Amino acid sequence: MLKQANEKRILIVGGGPVGLFAATRLVDFGIPVILIDKASQVSTDIRASTIHPPSLEMMAPYGITDEILETGIKVPQWQIRNHATGERVVFDLKHIADKTKYPYRVQFEQSKICAIMDRRLQDNQLADIRYGTEFVSFDQNSAGVSINVNTAAGPDKIHGQFLIAADGGASPIREQLGLTFEGSTYSERTVLVTTPFPFHEHIDGLSSVSYCWEKKGNFSLLQLPDQWRASLCFPENMSPDAALADEHIQKQLHVICPIGEPFEIYDKRVYRVHQRIVSKYDHGRIALAGDAAHINSPSGGMGMNGGLHDAHDLAEKLNQIWLSEDEYIYFDLLGLYSRQRKPIAEEQIIKQADENCKRMTEKNHEKRRKSLDELLDISSDPVKCRAFLLKSSMFEGLRQASLIE
Ligand SMILES: Cc1cc2nc3c(=O)[nH]c(=O)nc-3n(C[C@H](O)[C@H](O)[C@H](O)COP(=O)(O)OP(=O)(O)OC[C@H]3O[C@@H](n4cnc5c(N)ncnc54)[C@H](O)[C@@H]3O)c2cc1C
Repeated sequence: MLKQANEKRILIVGGGPVGLFAATRLVDFGIPVILIDKASQVSTDIRASTIHPPSLEMMAPYGITDEILETGIKVPQWQIRNHATGERVVFDLKHIADKTKYPYRVQFEQSKICAIMDRRLQDNQLADIRYGTEFVSFDQNSAGVSINVNTAAGPDKIHGQFLIAADGGASPIREQLGLTFEGSTYSERTVLVTTPFPFHEHIDGLSSVSYCWEKKGNFSLLQLPDQWRASLCFPENMSPDAALADEHIQKQLHVICPIGEPFEIYDKRVYRVHQRIVSKYDHGRIALAGDAAHINSPSGGMGMNGGLHDAHDLAEKLNQIWLSEDEYIYFDLLGLYSRQRKPIAEEQIIKQADENCKRMTEKNHEKRRKSLDELLDISSDPVKCRAFLLKSSMFEGLRQASLIE
């Protein structure tokens, strides 16, 4: 049954973190939403695991941040280290403590953030959250947008004033808009392994977020509330099946920590990384957000965070549109959303993630040494360190976006 009787509402396709956060903010403004997702329930896939301070600030007014902090791991210091020698550069977010109430990253699963938002929305009369509902196509005109959907009960048509495309990296809405997703795919592939093994009890001075070089490659170790996640690289000429073979994973984990017995593995999967972006986020009454608009290397943990920042800004602009008596103001405000958020995705997210990725996948020992020395210089100088942390914690992108008119 529809919670909203009339058709004055905003449609959202995609119940990932971006769609759910946009819905959270819109209903808080008093705007009814219908959010659809083709999955039968909120996703249980871990995916992102790092939350940066600005995202914590943005989610705080809705009680989400407090819930995250109940079990999430606060990480005031993260590091880049040479695994063989133990030499490391430690970045301490105390250098930006004057800037934020949350001077730390939080390690917490994306799936749990989504579950918190979903549960809160289910209790809100203005939110109509429909799983098992697949977007098929849209029509838009000067009065609004309609989407054709498939449900277990058959096809349906839903109307609204605006449509947020938060339908992920393979966005069918982007495809129907005929937009190209410009960019490239990295040649390196990664195996993600989760294990209950307490790496921090075995590796000296390890942070809960550690990006590591080892002799032949690189890996990262990220702690989550009940497990650790290791990102392992594998050679280009190795098949994904061979990379996922238990023997290979055990061997790689033993390079990280030679415990002399098999590691318990909860989950393992291969993924490929892309960096892509659309030319423009606003298309009439439709606005793209999150992975539907831009994707990047996970190095630095900025993809979901950037999407949450899109949702935060887009919901704000949709509220201004909602309150305005000028019927066509949406044209200006959705255009402004695109002009503000797209360059930040390009310059601050995709580019920075690419630099992080290149730095860590560098195999030349002299170049690694040079990077380490440069980073040591930054971390030991409070002024440089603050500038570095404002950028890597994503405050700088938000500052730059706010200057764009
Ligand atoms: C291994 C890995 C690690 C990562 N680590 C980090 C990290 O530490 N920090 C970080 O910030 N980011 C990280 N990311 C990126 C992050 O996961 C994504 O940026 C984030 O999921 C984007 O959210 P979204 O809501 O835009 O899209 P998604 O989460 O992909 O959600 C899109 C939703 O749209 C739905 N959908 C798609 N098509 C249709 C349709 N036709 N009809 C209805 N629904 C549809 C899907 O079912 C899905 O639920 C990581 C990603 C990966 C793969």
